[in-house]
Amino acid sequence: MMTPMELVKVCPKCFSTNVGLDISLKSYAQGSFFNLHKCGDCGYVGLVFPEVDKEGLKKLRGRKK
Ligand SMILES: [Zn+2]
Repeated sequence: MMTPMELVKVCPKCFSTNVGLDISLKSYAQGSFFNLHKCGDCGYVGLVFPEVDKEGLKKLRGRKK
């Protein structure tokens, strides 16, 4: 049986997986249909957070020095 890959959102700046939805009144007020995500570690906010599996995450973090 194949095990489905577990994807996690990763902050493109600090590679933290502490990423959540940025739910703010401001984005509702602007009529945004997009879900912004926010990194809980470095505070980066963006639409595009890469989703990687655990192997991909290891590679990303290994590259960072
Ligand atoms: Zn971050």
